[in-house]
Amino acid sequence: MQHPHPADASSRKPDPSAAHAEHPAPPHTTEDNAAANSTGADAHPTPPPEPERATVAPPGPPLRRGKAHGACPNPNGGPAGPWTDVPEDDWNRWTWQQANRLRRLDDIDRALHLTDDERDAFVRSANLFDVAVTPYYASLMRTGDPRCPIRLQSLPQKGELAHFPFELDDPLAEEEHMPVPGITYRYPDRILFYVTHNCPVYCRHCTRKRKVADPGSAAARLQIEEGLRWIARTTTVRDVLLSGGDPLTLSDDRLLDLLHRLADIPHVEVIRLGTRNPVTLPQRFTPELCQRLRDVRPLYVHTHFNHPAECSAAAATALERLADAGCVLGNQMVLLRGVNDDPATVLELNRWLLRHRCRPYYIFQADMARGITHFRTPLQRGLDIIEHLRGRIGGMGVPHFAIDLPGGGGKITLTPEHVVHRDGNHWTFRNTFGRTFSFVDAGALEDDP
Ligand code: SF4
Repeated sequence: MQHPHPADASSRKPDPSAAHAEHPAPPHTTEDNAAANSTGADAHPTPPPEPERATVAPPGPPLRRGKAHGACPNPNGGPAGPWTDVPEDDWNRWTWQQANRLRRLDDIDRALHLTDDERDAFVRSANLFDVAVTPYYASLMRTGDPRCPIRLQSLPQKGELAHFPFELDDPLAEEEHMPVPGITYRYPDRILFYVTHNCPVYCRHCTRKRKVADPGSAAARLQIEEGLRWIARTTTVRDVLLSGGDPLTLSDDRLLDLLHRLADIPHVEVIRLGTRNPVTLPQRFTPELCQRLRDVRPLYVHTHFNHPAECSAAAATALERLADAGCVLGNQMVLLRGVNDDPATVLELNRWLLRHRCRPYYIFQADMARGITHFRTPLQRGLDIIEHLRGRIGGMGVPHFAIDLPGGGGKITLTPEHVVHRDGNHWTFRNTFGRTFSFVDAGALEDDP
């Protein structure tokens, strides 16, 4: 992108202690598997070649370990910083958080002490994308630090002002695939249902900047009714993802009405809520709302944590309440340059998510959306992160690394390469620690029964 990013990982120094700590021998290695396989293969009519000794292979892809940069600055998520004197009752009311969002330059500067660059970017991006930050999310920022991952995600940056010919207003061609306004239908069995243009915080990396925050794109009641009728008569639709904007900006009554009407459609088997409220407005998940969500089955909630600095006790409570209400939780992280594009940060985040019953589901490569190129990372970085996670956290903590292809091509997933060599049915793999192992494919049995 156009500006040398202050947090460019190439300038980060590896932390030798962290690197050392993260190389424990896994309790059951693929070396064990190789030994077991070689024993089993003795009975085989075509003995495999001597299994390769587990050797220290040439180093695998360079892992940018580093240290997770920045735990949550407001660990309990209560009133803090400029809001220290706000009564807890007010602070914990989501309507108070919404009503007191920071939107104007003067208010934000007073509360967050903008740098000259941030102030300049704010002024120059005024017509490009709105700014809104809940006091709660702002309380997670490191005051005056332009590299703070929360600031980078929620305050305008100079990078938004540069545009490139390959950027697209609608990178996923969502508008082109709308049978009726507000419904994107790209796969036979599932749809995205756009139900609001509002969000508590407008993320600077949002892929729907073209419409989110724009009252002109608001999903009016009539449009939602038309969408419901379309779903009811389209019997191939089994899976509905409510999105926006953030559907949790609807009132409890409107949200529950929508969920129940979807659940009443016989062919709708799965309902999903895409929401960043657990991250930016965890107070939204009141006991009353979660009690009512219990009646909607099955309900999947996809949230969007990007950094351990977002992992406060308040966010944990939101996840726990949703999980207790029977929701199935998954996290969709977006890989953002200078925010979370290092393995240690993602590992720390994913460990926290699993502790709170939220499974890391996707790491998305940032889309080719207009004004977010400064956030994009090389594809190899995502692969390196997956490689790093693989040996250091159980499979539940290793998400899919996905690109949502431009033009409506849909999602594809990328995985690190582990095949070193193949000779017929004899394969050689490299594990995540750079060691090689032999494996005899079952194809050998079919070739020589
Ligand atoms: S919460 Fe989602 S839809 Fe809203 S601004 Fe952030 S990324 Fe965009």
